[in-house]
Amino acid sequence: MRGTGAGARCVGYAGVAAAGLLCVGLWTGKAPGGATGPADESWSVATLKETIEKLRPLHRKLGKPRPGEWLYHHPEPGQTFDQYVRSSPVVPRADRRTIYVQPLGEFTPGRRRIVTLTAEFIGVFFSVPVKVSSDLPLSVVPESARRTHPTWGDKQILTTYVLDKVLKPRLPKDAFACIAFTSWDLWPGEGWNFVFGQASLRERVGVWSIYRFGDPDKDEQSFRLALLRAMRTGTHELGHMLTILHCTAYECGMCGSNSLPESDRRPLALCPECMAKVCWATHADPVERCRKLAQFCEKHGLKSEAARYREFLRALGAR
Ligand SMILES: [Zn+2]
Ligand SMILES: [Zn+2]
Repeated sequence: MRGTGAGARCVGYAGVAAAGLLCVGLWTGKAPGGATGPADESWSVATLKETIEKLRPLHRKLGKPRPGEWLYHHPEPGQTFDQYVRSSPVVPRADRRTIYVQPLGEFTPGRRRIVTLTAEFIGVFFSVPVKVSSDLPLSVVPESARRTHPTWGDKQILTTYVLDKVLKPRLPKDAFACIAFTSWDLWPGEGWNFVFGQASLRERVGVWSIYRFGDPDKDEQSFRLALLRAMRTGTHELGHMLTILHCTAYECGMCGSNSLPESDRRPLALCPECMAKVCWATHADPVERCRKLAQFCEKHGLKSEAARYREFLRALGAR
């Protein structure tokens, strides 16, 4: 977001305002392997379309964007399930199915616990194997790709350096995607104050940061809030890595966010159109996926999120 205010964060920085979830599409390179349409499984286009209709009544449509919100400042076209399938998205293949979470730099014990739990959640959310890679030290990011924010003083690292120079050369052979997770603040370049995360739509790399998500080492409530934020942003960025664009239809985990309050209003769940994209891309059974997500949320004290997934299961005629 440029030129307008988004809360106290952006005041006084040469007219450039705080940027939220920047999810820049780097439309270079071809979809590796492309996507082949499944025929007669639970994740087939026809079956998923029936699933969408069952879930649609449970989801709230987005209202008209207001000043400060992502869509007010970044008018975007959205993407239906049909449009997604036709876009030759990047999807996991049999030989390239694992998502790697790459810790970058130091983590406090609370933040380290969040890395572990978020990696587990990502596996359930995308129904693929997830591995947490060995830590990379922050020294892999040179001084030329770091800065101190000119007004706020936050120490920041350049997202594009992380994507292009740190992750791409290290992408494991069996990786569907690799996403770095760091405690450092992120900044995507000239004209932006910060980002929570950034991902490539087609090159299978992304990065997100826990820096702005509160102090998970303070108490259990702060831990849970930071965990929720980390899971929300991590799955959002990984959604982009499946070539899913921002959602403009519903209150959905794939909506763009311009600020932490806007991001906090988004559900941990996907709307039916975006859920269908994920299930189609990963060959996940929507009911099984939902059940496992409900169980994960119950196990980790995320009560309202668990209740939401249970509600979806009932609408799908399951428990
Ligand atoms: Zn995004
Ligand atoms: Zn959506």
